[in-house]
Amino acid sequence: MEADVLVIGCGPAGLQAAIHASRKKASVLVAGKAASSGAYGARIENYLGVPSRPGEEILADGRAQAESFGARFLDMNVMSASALDGRFVFGMEDGSEVSAKAVVLATGIARRLLGIPGEKALTGKGVSYCAVCDCNFYKGRRVAVVGNDSEAAASARLMTSYASETHWVRWEDAADEGLASKALEAGAVPHAGRPKAIEGDGKVERLVLEDGAEIQVDGVFIELGARSSADLAMDLGIMPEIDDTVKAGQDCSTEVPGVFACGDVTGRPWQVAKAVGQGCVAGMSAADFARRLE
Ligand SMILES: Cc1cc2nc3c(=O)[nH]c(=O)nc-3n(C[C@H](O)[C@H](O)[C@H](O)COP(=O)(O)OP(=O)(O)OC[C@H]3O[C@@H](n4cnc5c(N)ncnc54)[C@H](O)[C@@H]3O)c2cc1C
Repeated sequence: MEADVLVIGCGPAGLQAAIHASRKKASVLVAGKAASSGAYGARIENYLGVPSRPGEEILADGRAQAESFGARFLDMNVMSASALDGRFVFGMEDGSEVSAKAVVLATGIARRLLGIPGEKALTGKGVSYCAVCDCNFYKGRRVAVVGNDSEAAASARLMTSYASETHWVRWEDAADEGLASKALEAGAVPHAGRPKAIEGDGKVERLVLEDGAEIQVDGVFIELGARSSADLAMDLGIMPEIDDTVKAGQDCSTEVPGVFACGDVTGRPWQVAKAVGQGCVAGMSAADFARRLE
């Protein structure tokens, strides 16, 4: 199969890229699975004009919108990528190949899990991976932020403005000293130790540490940083950043001509609004790049 632009990822960034590239009359293929988007299963309440709406509804409408402009969807993952004779060639999950003049990486991130009992079962029921996204749900409630580094410190500080109690659980001092001091000065209660389990009957009720200590909370924010699907970027000749994100310029171009990146894969903030904004830019840039090759 051939296209001017292959968009890898059908989350908010990829869908917006597909809409804008199609509107510029590029032929567009979109690969990926909606259910793997960070927005799927989330309730989005801070995106302009959308006071509160399930992410899967936003994604379904976005896909229909992209299809109405001519984008075609392949509900499968891209397994490999290479550059060949001025085109990019991709190996797909079903064994087929896609060739495109330009590519948009909109592959999002995979959040790092703690991997402890209760974490999976209580995700969305008090376990969250994004303080910026979910802080508002915890106004006046008790929360624990788990993580050693600066992201965790910043999240702990943020949560002190919302929660009645903020506990910061860490087992290493890896955060920037200034950020850590600000979190503690703002009232975050420090705990030294590794989490052992998250417990509760249908919702988070407590975080248990390895030393047996129990912290009674309504929410647990796991802030361990994230990994993106940087392997594909490397296949294309891009060296990912140390945190596995891909550096993108103002026009969303990467270090490899014809490869553009947008959304969570380019780094924080992990927000729909930023993903959509960059998706618009990446889609237009990719369509322009493909047209210049004609
Ligand atoms: C629980 C939760 C709550 C959230 N709440 C909010 C909120 O309230 N407000 C807000 O603004 N943001 C929120 N977010 C963050 C928001 O969902 C993300 O910032 C947004 O989805 C990023 O969009 P994206 O398109 O960059 O990545 P994603 O939406 O994660 O999409 C990535 C896409 O890439 C695809 N993909 C990955 N690898 C491949 C591959 N090899 N081949 C093909 N496809 C691939 C995936 O299938 C997926 O379709 C929340 C996130 C979570 C997890």
